[in-house]
Amino acid sequence: MNTEYLRITDERADADAIRRAGAVIQDGGLVAFPTETVYGLGADAFNAEAAQKIYAAKGRPSDNPLIVHIADIASLDEVACDVPDQARQLAERFWPGPLTMIFRKCENLPKETTGGRDTVAVRFPSNTCAQALIAAAGGFVAAPSANVSGRPSPTNGTDVMEDLDGRVDIVLDDGETVVGLESTIIDMTCEPPEILRPGAVTVDQIREIIPAVVQHASGADDEARAPGMKYRHYAPKAPLHLCNGAVVVDQIQMACDEDKQKGLKTGVLTCTENAPFYRADCVQVLGSERKPEEMAHRLYSCLRAFDRAGVDVIYSECFNPEGIGYALMNRLEKAENQTETE
Ligand code: AMP
Ligand code: MG
Repeated sequence: MNTEYLRITDERADADAIRRAGAVIQDGGLVAFPTETVYGLGADAFNAEAAQKIYAAKGRPSDNPLIVHIADIASLDEVACDVPDQARQLAERFWPGPLTMIFRKCENLPKETTGGRDTVAVRFPSNTCAQALIAAAGGFVAAPSANVSGRPSPTNGTDVMEDLDGRVDIVLDDGETVVGLESTIIDMTCEPPEILRPGAVTVDQIREIIPAVVQHASGADDEARAPGMKYRHYAPKAPLHLCNGAVVVDQIQMACDEDKQKGLKTGVLTCTENAPFYRADCVQVLGSERKPEEMAHRLYSCLRAFDRAGVDVIYSECFNPEGIGYALMNRLEKAENQTETE
């Protein structure tokens, strides 16, 4: 397949590119598009065959559900049933934005879109290019992140092309995403509602509307509750080790020196403050510890840079798990666990 790569530059080019991309989705094709979290790989949510193409393009297991993206709050009731009042309050407060909510799905939404489930995940993104595309595509775009399954999510058009060139009809490039980590996911079908994946909308913010909200703790029911979690996610190719403690820099440097002697190519993931102290083959800097948003935003680019450098092992510092730092540490912990088991 020949992938058309369209850079969103000015308003007039936008309108034309987006109209065409919307038509491609309406015809059952695939379009990779920017959102404020990460790039998405979109198809018509009501077209079962098109949804299946997403799984094929990504190499994604077919029981890992997609998120249905909408471009206005009213559309929620066309894909979801039994929407509780608290969900409407969350929508008022956080939509458009990086929050995904799970509901019972409407009868006519195909199960191919929802990974065979009778629930549906719904999000209204704030990126204006995404909103225009969703509207041009008929209002309901099913999309996971626009990476090959198992790789870090893409946060710019170049990373999308690295994974999906030749596998999708169109890639819309709108530059760097703002958040850089996937949306917060909250399951509204249970009581109390439960956060399945942390993101830029934090548990403290949600608690202001739902005081009883709980955070999902990894455990035996993960497969049933947070299906994406059982698959390799968020991970670079090399094993990643998280290191913590007062002498973390010394510890990491010692481990690197030992690995180097064994002939291994080493990688270190660090913050601006500690970067000068490392001697490794590839040092990736997330940003200043004082700017957790910037660190979160750069995570996946740094993980992809390790892949490109071909390192054999990665050591990462632990960072302050407050605010968006909680989601950052969540992704790093997943990366550590998943590289360890594979
Ligand atoms: P991605 O954005 O690529 O991580 O893909 C969407 C993620 O949303 C999946 O991996 C699931 O973890 C989650 N998700 C989507 N729909 C549901 C659902 N109905 N129930 C639980 N989790 C869901
Ligand atoms: Mg993903």
